[in-house]
Amino acid sequence: VKYERLTRQTDAQNYEKFISLVQAKNIEANLKDLTSRPHMAGLPEDLESAQVIEERWKRDGLQVTKPKYNILLSYPDNNKPNRVTLTTTDGTIIIQTEGVEKAYDPTQPKTVNPFLAYTPNGTVSSTKLFYANYGRLEDLKHLASIVGNASLQGSIIIMRYGRIFRGDKVIHAQYFGAVGAILYNDPADYAPFGTTPDQVYDQKWFMPPSGAQRGSSYTGNGDPLTPTYPSTDYMYRVEEGTISSLPRIPAQPIGYGEAQVILKYLQGSEVAAEWCGTLSNIRYRYGGVLLNKSSIEVKTYNRLERKDTYNVIGIMKGDIEPDRYVVIGNHRDAWSLGSVDPTSGTAAMLEITRVLGEMAKNGFRPRRTLMFCSWGAEEYGLIGSVEYVEEYVKVFGARIISYLNLDVAVEGNHTVDIKTSPLLFDIIVEASKLVPSAYDPVGKTVYDKWVDFQWNNVTNEPKIAYGLGSGSDFFGFDQLVGSSNIDATYMFDHTYYKSLSSYALYHTSYEVFAMMKNFIDPNFTAHRTMGQLMGVVALFLSETPVLQFNVSRYTIALREAMNNLKPNNPEALDPLRQAINDFGATANDFMRRSKLIDFENPFNIRAYNDQLLQLERAFLNPLGQGGDYTDFKHIVFAPAKGNKYAASGFPSVSDAVANGDSTEIDTEVAIATYFVRGALSTLKEFD
Ligand code: GLU
Ligand code: CA
Ligand code: ZN
Ligand code: ZN
Repeated sequence: VKYERLTRQTDAQNYEKFISLVQAKNIEANLKDLTSRPHMAGLPEDLESAQVIEERWKRDGLQVTKPKYNILLSYPDNNKPNRVTLTTTDGTIIIQTEGVEKAYDPTQPKTVNPFLAYTPNGTVSSTKLFYANYGRLEDLKHLASIVGNASLQGSIIIMRYGRIFRGDKVIHAQYFGAVGAILYNDPADYAPFGTTPDQVYDQKWFMPPSGAQRGSSYTGNGDPLTPTYPSTDYMYRVEEGTISSLPRIPAQPIGYGEAQVILKYLQGSEVAAEWCGTLSNIRYRYGGVLLNKSSIEVKTYNRLERKDTYNVIGIMKGDIEPDRYVVIGNHRDAWSLGSVDPTSGTAAMLEITRVLGEMAKNGFRPRRTLMFCSWGAEEYGLIGSVEYVEEYVKVFGARIISYLNLDVAVEGNHTVDIKTSPLLFDIIVEASKLVPSAYDPVGKTVYDKWVDFQWNNVTNEPKIAYGLGSGSDFFGFDQLVGSSNIDATYMFDHTYYKSLSSYALYHTSYEVFAMMKNFIDPNFTAHRTMGQLMGVVALFLSETPVLQFNVSRYTIALREAMNNLKPNNPEALDPLRQAINDFGATANDFMRRSKLIDFENPFNIRAYNDQLLQLERAFLNPLGQGGDYTDFKHIVFAPAKGNKYAASGFPSVSDAVANGDSTEIDTEVAIATYFVRGALSTLKEFD
């Protein structure tokens, strides 16, 4: 029987069976249980929550380990909230921020006060306050062009949340000479229907006046003290002072109720319309010396501390190809109770393992190894996942097929939002046709809803953006392992909620079970859909003898990325264009030949699959992008500089084009061309 399975699909019925066994009520119970206690990284609750997952996975029949890393973390002083104070020249305090969000439910466990992890402790003050919109590089440049670079020196800069990763905002303010930074959630982006109590939490899922987004300000990836290498006991640590991806200026998030008072004291000319938020009775101004020569102070009590964090790894060993891994993962740490981020993902992941465990009791054995991961310390900078990948990068480079990330699994109840490697697009489309859509009539699939919503008229298929960027645990797999990966979320309707930057209560203490239950996914069918979808993708990848990666998708992705590059001299791209044309021809040839392969021979299956696995890996430049970016190794897709959340296509070439230096452009085009040619050689016939 076993030999027969070398070339045969395990049992096609398994997909249907899996889908039918996933239960919304179990996921609801998981979410309720896991959000009843805080679970911030590095504290006793890190280990306690790891033990909860460990017990569950043992019950499901998985082999479980709990690798531990000693890493640099950051905490505020919960007895002394970080504050921003506005004072007049005679010392009268106009406002001192609370540093604590309003508590709507006295029974809710107390969680950490708003702070920006890794911003230094200290007190800074200035008589100059500026407003820099979303804090994007172009925003700071525009501000400097209006008020002059010199006047930004020694100032404090206030910015609104949204559009880019918060850490980049702080770094941008620092770069332009600010001594401190303040962040707040403008109602334009987080309370689009107004700020009256009936339109915000706890009556709606929008931001109330005292809500503030916590989060990391670190722009690197993995433990700051151990770049490149795992933070194991034997590893050396770098000097804290030398880490350029940690901000050097105090910074603090505040509520928009408080920001409103402060913004009234801004002087200078009024900003352009795109810079205006929607706080009432405010004229948004660029700022300068504060009204009445008042002064603004940012005072923080944050501290750095080395702590242990835990990953939980659960393995269901493959029967036929145990040395090929399909990985599903999500982080476990949350700033507060984390009912959306990350626990919607964990609640769904635990239902996936429960169902597979049940199937295993009835004889199911995956063809390839299924690996489940609950990461520690993601919120600080993807630390648990990056350290684990750094420790096992050689083994994972050889064995991992795909990493499927389920972080914020459910932030809305409308449709799926998929970020994927081009190679997996067809697989996720196939899976989406098998899974019922949430909150839709019986018979409507995830695929149907997806195409209703995002249809590409040119290609006649769902619209999708290739490349994952960063901002969650897929980073290490994308950039260091070189596997082909997916990140998936169930989204709100962003054509209706146009101005919402993300779900509004992101990283606040209002991310509680009742918020999910009352406003986002009342019957947990969106969670069920995500569990079914990601579970089926994992099963496709683990059970299909011949992997269904579509290599011609990479031709499309390469062309798209190249077409976005706009050098002054377009001929500079000719070598790359030629390589991509050759890639396309080789990919077509590969697909044609694949129809002639004798897949009754298991060696042929393995050889064919290995070519598919080598393709994405061939895009990794072992040197990365150099400088502070040696860990950005994928030459086609990497996180954008200036916004950790976004993906940039041919990032090194794109940066060279932005710098406008023709020698640099030629150099980067040559390097990109070399890697595209290397990638196409993995698809050639063996000779
Ligand atoms: N997901 C976390 C955040 O967005 C961490 C992101 C990161 O450090 O890349 O704050
Ligand atoms: Ca490390
Ligand atoms: Zn998350
Ligand atoms: Zn988060």
